[in-house]
Amino acid sequence: QTPHILVVGGAGYIGSHMVWLLGQRGAQVTVLDNLSTGHRDAVLCGRLVEGDMADAALLDRLFAQHRFDAVMHFASCIQVGESVSDPAKYYVNNVGNTLTLLGAMREHGVRQFVFSSTAAVFGEPLYSPIDEQHPRAPINPYGRTKWMIEQALDDYGHAYGLRSVSLRYFNAAGAHPDGLLGERHEPETHLVPLVLQAAAGRRPHVTVFGCDYDTPDGTCVRDYIHVMDLAEAHWQALRYLSEGGATRAFNLGNGDGYSVQQVVDAVRAVTGRPVAVQVGPRRAGDPARLVANAALAREVLRWRPRHASLEAIVRDAWRWESR
Ligand code: UDP
Repeated sequence: QTPHILVVGGAGYIGSHMVWLLGQRGAQVTVLDNLSTGHRDAVLCGRLVEGDMADAALLDRLFAQHRFDAVMHFASCIQVGESVSDPAKYYVNNVGNTLTLLGAMREHGVRQFVFSSTAAVFGEPLYSPIDEQHPRAPINPYGRTKWMIEQALDDYGHAYGLRSVSLRYFNAAGAHPDGLLGERHEPETHLVPLVLQAAAGRRPHVTVFGCDYDTPDGTCVRDYIHVMDLAEAHWQALRYLSEGGATRAFNLGNGDGYSVQQVVDAVRAVTGRPVAVQVGPRRAGDPARLVANAALAREVLRWRPRHASLEAIVRDAWRWESR
């Protein structure tokens, strides 16, 4: 029997790749998205309901109308800097509205939930690579909102039998390998698309946020993970929950760290184009190094990333960026 999945935030970057994958795997898909940052034409299958998860009456109608087997939640505010200057936006949307969504699930007896969490729940790393046991000590409101929901999910699991998987993304990047989908943030703040836009001549240069970190070349090291590999991990999480898996959080990354300088070099190599670089000051809240230990996801979710190299990630992102 085909599962029916509600994908909240399915018109966004990671959500839209997920929706495509669900369609490929034969799932029935309903997308709920307020299109505040998502794109209608990024929803390549299923039905798009334009609306807000804050709208409890809308959720009630939607859950009454359909028998969802699981809910996937990609709808959140994701900019660390903005979360510092406008924390209310983050607490209201990422915490308050998520609780509204969970309330509708409880009300209608939907008990499987996949949650988009983040490496930002860890704060400044005490060791590397970071496993799931690493202390959660977020250093900005964005990370705190995600950690609050992870804790609520533990409690909801015990009290209400609502089982969930929280997936802590490290640095999502890349695009659909066929060029169907990609990253479209307005304004763009993420490194890979910014460097590619500079290579495409759509930006004069890239600013590197700090070159005096305690890393081999002085620039920050991150664990970049292909958006299709992220989507695969979500698919495996759905399977895990459908087989009765208990509430759990998993780190998702490749376990390889690449510096900002290495990303710029990879873009130059893949595109064959020059990229002008300026060095700027450090960005507040940036740890020197964030690299995942994703052994647990490999073992428990049987997750197998297939586009793990930085080159593959940059190549697919370039196909989209140069479309
Ligand atoms: N970065 C940079 N210049 C930019 C954007 C990002 O040097 O214009 C750096 C940033 O400091 C971090 C890395 O690139 O070390 C990845 O940043 P991004 O915003 O893509 O993801 P985040 O790590 O914040 O999730």
